[in-house]
Amino acid sequence: MAKEIFAIFGNPVSHSKSPLMHNLAFQGLAYDACYTRHLLEDGSTLKGTFFNLGLKGINITVPHKEAAFNACDVLDPFAQKIGVVNTIVKRDGKLYGYNTDAPGFLKAISEFKEVKTVLFLGAGGTAQSTSSILRDQGYEVTLLNRSASRLEKYQADGFETYTFKNFKTKHYDLVINMTSAGLEDDNLPAPKELLDTVIPQAKACIDVIYGKETPFLKLAKSYNKPTKDGSDMLLYQGIIAFEYFTDHTYTFDEIKPIMQKAFSL
Ligand code: NDP
Repeated sequence: MAKEIFAIFGNPVSHSKSPLMHNLAFQGLAYDACYTRHLLEDGSTLKGTFFNLGLKGINITVPHKEAAFNACDVLDPFAQKIGVVNTIVKRDGKLYGYNTDAPGFLKAISEFKEVKTVLFLGAGGTAQSTSSILRDQGYEVTLLNRSASRLEKYQADGFETYTFKNFKTKHYDLVINMTSAGLEDDNLPAPKELLDTVIPQAKACIDVIYGKETPFLKLAKSYNKPTKDGSDMLLYQGIIAFEYFTDHTYTFDEIKPIMQKAFSL
């Protein structure tokens, strides 16, 4: 049996690419560990399940990232600030919590240069961590969401926010789909006539959904805009989590070519 066992907790969890990504990296770097998946139905059992399964670390996906935050004994400053944890590592019997989605996303968009203003379509959990890290890095983030209720906490936090009804169009360097529209349906994340006002002015359009060309990316391409899906975000959050799992035994650039193979299998 492997010396250290890792897992992803979520519900659903069967679709997750994380076991493949991490097992490829453990194997490729000859690190004595393996990575499995666990369907966690009740978030309040997260800590007990972690210890019962004898794990060294976990990733956490929907809908348990806030439960993961609550389960940790020690939080890194960014995870503490946003209240969302997607990576936990056990050290000396204590659970250490991190958020790697946001730095993964930041790295994924770093290829787009001279970007200042960003329009987020959507205001859910993913938008929460990524809007915060982008603002910390000096980007101006505006959020546009279908429902007003989700925008309240962003308003309280000083973000400029709009619903479809009161949106006033202006230039944004990047337009990013942070919603699940297009994931399992053919919906656009906002009314087409609204997107038709912001996409033509943008330098590039990004979707956090990966593995398919969403209606949003199709529309962006019809305007000849550079586009990017969520694959790099997924890869980079995994690499950063792997760095924590292995206590920084390997560098980002050592892990990347091995973990990346999960996207071509
Ligand atoms: P949440 O459930 O927290 O939020 C969903 C958001 O999508 C809300 O703002 C909701 O608006 C909006 N929305 C859903 N359906 C529609 C629609 N038909 N039209 C307009 N808006 C819609 O989801 P998450 O933040 O957890 O996930 C968002 C996306 O990010 C998902 O597609 C997920 O797959 C992806 N993701 C990608 C990752 C990666 O590594 N690439 C990592 C994590 C997530 P409303 O308030 O009106 O309901």
